[in-house]
Amino acid sequence: MNRPDVLVVGAGVSGLTTSLRLAEHGVRVRIRAQDAPADTNSAAAGAIWDPIYAEHPRVPEWAQRSYEVFTRMVADGFPGVRLVDGVEADRLPITSPEWARGLPGFRECDPGDLPPGFVHGWHYTAPIIDMPPYLAALEAMVRAYGADLHFGRRLTSLAEGFADAPIVVNCSGPGARELVPDPTVRPIRGQLVAIRNPGHREFFAEHTEELGEMIYLLPQGDMLLLGGSAEEGIDDPAPDPLVADAIVKRCGDIFPEIRHAEILENRGGIRPARAMIRLEHEDLGDRHIVHNYGHSGAGVSLSWGCADDVAAIVGRLLGR
Ligand SMILES: Cc1cc2nc3c(=O)[nH]c(=O)nc-3n(C[C@H](O)[C@H](O)[C@H](O)COP(=O)(O)OP(=O)(O)OC[C@H]3O[C@@H](n4cnc5c(N)ncnc54)[C@H](O)[C@@H]3O)c2cc1C
Repeated sequence: MNRPDVLVVGAGVSGLTTSLRLAEHGVRVRIRAQDAPADTNSAAAGAIWDPIYAEHPRVPEWAQRSYEVFTRMVADGFPGVRLVDGVEADRLPITSPEWARGLPGFRECDPGDLPPGFVHGWHYTAPIIDMPPYLAALEAMVRAYGADLHFGRRLTSLAEGFADAPIVVNCSGPGARELVPDPTVRPIRGQLVAIRNPGHREFFAEHTEELGEMIYLLPQGDMLLLGGSAEEGIDDPAPDPLVADAIVKRCGDIFPEIRHAEILENRGGIRPARAMIRLEHEDLGDRHIVHNYGHSGAGVSLSWGCADDVAAIVGRLLGR
């Protein structure tokens, strides 16, 4: 490729989605990333569309936009994307949250249909993404637009990226802590256990507004992903077997049939937590950085909305 217009740093869901949107708008893109898509934290995600676990005033718009795109992808047969019916439930008699009420398939559950211990719940339909094939398909599309991708080298500063292009888009996830540097980015490790699906066709999630020892079951065909965990301050993605055992126990206490199901894989990844997602333009005169990081536990759910905003900023910078 001739000199690209933009260098994107990062090849997780943020970097690939943003690169694809830019390429679709005719922007020449190069990606540099330490980890190839299959090895990113994004590859470890569940991943259910859920607009809760990240902060920014534009989260509702980004989530809505992403929901629409995922719905279209299902219609187009895009790899790894499903629309799944399911239930979110609480052990307390809360009111169903505002964000859930407008969703396709929303209805209050009959309490008699909920698992023991749960008193209130609601049905809805959510996109669930099988991340490894999904990221592979995004990467293939970015390549098909002529972008070049370089993996295996860690940048020590964003300024290094100006050797490639005058605009650097920073999608480095937890890596932003050192790369920017931005000490407000905090690693939160999350784990999942993949088991052979004993027959769940619907998802189940215990309602919570906070990342923690969550309970959720996400069906992905013959595989059922069990979650989850949130270990503050741990930046080693390697799954801890004790945490994995605790996840299986918590889920098994509600759905006994999964207790003895075959375990296929333990997954671990780091969520890039930040008080607020950073999506903004940093003007350095004739050079520019556009940041897109800090998506915590909602990076997949917000990915298309954020990518559109980055594409709009870059379009203005390029005068298009
Ligand atoms: C167990 C788990 C479950 C999750 N479940 C969900 C869910 O259900 N729904 C949802 O929406 N979200 C979920 N998330 C959160 C979601 O995965 C993240 O918000 C998202 O993956 C962040 O993507 P990213 O592309 O910004 O970062 P990453 O995937 O971490 O990618 C960062 C990229 O930047 C590169 N990089 C970093 N630093 C440098 C450097 N210095 N030089 C070169 N390259 C660099 C990395 O190599 C990598 O390629 C979950 C996360 C985990 C861990």
